[in-house]
Amino acid sequence: MKLREKRQSGIVSKVYGYMAGFVVILLILLWLFQVVLLDGFYTVIKKGSIKSTAQTIIQNIKSENVEELLERISHMDNLCIRIVNEDLETVYSEETMPNCTIHKMEPDRLAAIYEEAAANKGSTFELITRDEFYDKNWNKRFQGEGAPPMHREQKSMVYAKLVKMEDGSKMMILLNSQITPLTATVETLRAELVYITFIMLVLAMFIAIQISKKLSKPIVKINESAKELAKGNYNVTFEGSGYREIAELNNTLNYAATELSKVEALRRELIANISHDLRTPLTMITGYAEVMRDLPGENTPENIQIIIDEAQRLSTLVSDILDISKLQSGTQSLNISRFSLTDSIQKILLRYNKLMEQGGYQILFRPDQDAWIEADEVKMSQVLYNLINNAINYTGGDKKIILSQTVENGWVKLEIKDTGEGIEQDLLPLIWDRYYKVDKKHRQAMVGTGLGLSIVKSVLELHHADYGVESTLGEGSNFWFALPLSEE
Ligand code: ADP
Repeated sequence: MKLREKRQSGIVSKVYGYMAGFVVILLILLWLFQVVLLDGFYTVIKKGSIKSTAQTIIQNIKSENVEELLERISHMDNLCIRIVNEDLETVYSEETMPNCTIHKMEPDRLAAIYEEAAANKGSTFELITRDEFYDKNWNKRFQGEGAPPMHREQKSMVYAKLVKMEDGSKMMILLNSQITPLTATVETLRAELVYITFIMLVLAMFIAIQISKKLSKPIVKINESAKELAKGNYNVTFEGSGYREIAELNNTLNYAATELSKVEALRRELIANISHDLRTPLTMITGYAEVMRDLPGENTPENIQIIIDEAQRLSTLVSDILDISKLQSGTQSLNISRFSLTDSIQKILLRYNKLMEQGGYQILFRPDQDAWIEADEVKMSQVLYNLINNAINYTGGDKKIILSQTVENGWVKLEIKDTGEGIEQDLLPLIWDRYYKVDKKHRQAMVGTGLGLSIVKSVLELHHADYGVESTLGEGSNFWFALPLSEE
């Protein structure tokens, strides 16, 4: 329980950390744009609008009702307009503001603006501060008493634009508007920002808690199921949806649980099978040994042979079990070398000579060329022994086994065919499993351990070989594997 609480608070603080970071960045941006850069933005926007007004005037300067237009513009945009000719004589004039600069401008100043505009591609901006406004060089009329009041931080923006008329003469359009100080607005925004900060942080906390709850709830649920699984309850199901990642985690864990339960079932089956397989020959050995001890006449070579055979079966079983557990635990590494598969098969077949002579078995192998491969020779011979032994054990009455080697497209394919009863199609995938024997009912009577093909499969898979089996009931089976050829 304690652990769970701790993890949950971990998520809350993490999410809150990110949320708070986000809020801080947002507030910094707000502060930057609304407080620091507001004045600059305001001036830029004002400049833009005054420029476009000048453009409208230029387009309509020739029209008949230009005066009407100027009046309308000046009232709507709260602008003063003055248009002068080259001799700086006023042609049109609209005066709407009491503290307009352009109408009361000294002629010297007007001439200076004209020159400045002419030098500056036909237009110029002037921002006149309060001090300049009351300066005698700007206008004599506003000195001393009776001057219209101007706020300390108020500025007057003058835009001058030269226009070339069709008859070659020039005119200068002067527009004047007031830049009102934004101090009050900025202060309001600053105060607002304090409240916004507070509200946002509280909101972030609230959202963080909600998100964390949503995130951690399914995790807690999964954790409980995982604890069950750890205790060995493989039937546990992982539930708890909410979002895709959790659903995927659930799927993975459910899959892991079924796989674990399979492993568990296999382990139980393995122990049952091994003990069964060990007990059968042991019972035989003790039985025969007891008979031979108690009944003198039974001390025959045949009975001793049975004991030897059973003891051999035991040792094969034990070494098979050792092999398979080594192979499947992944501790077995391959000892790769380059050797001739053909030679290797021929050497193995030499050992079957006696069997062929005495048992009447016929093993055919007529390769047309040597096939060299890179593989673990000892393990590959284990594969061959297992496949050949199976073929001998299950082949038909004609006791015939055919080995064929084909080389194609850089691969060598080896087939081991018998003429036995074959295997049913739906059992084919199962025979590679550990301890699988087709005739489960009559296990004792059968020679095999059920491990042979499982060893074959493990070794071939370690070599990344292709392998398989084809079988027709009544006709026989064909076990095959293919490996890439090794080039010199
Ligand atoms: P076993 O030691 O019983 O032969 P294997 O793993 O080698 O174990 O084989 C598993 C089962 O596959 C065998 O019990 C047998 O029923 C079947 N099998 C294997 N090889 C052949 C074959 N050549 N023909 C028919 N059945 C076969």
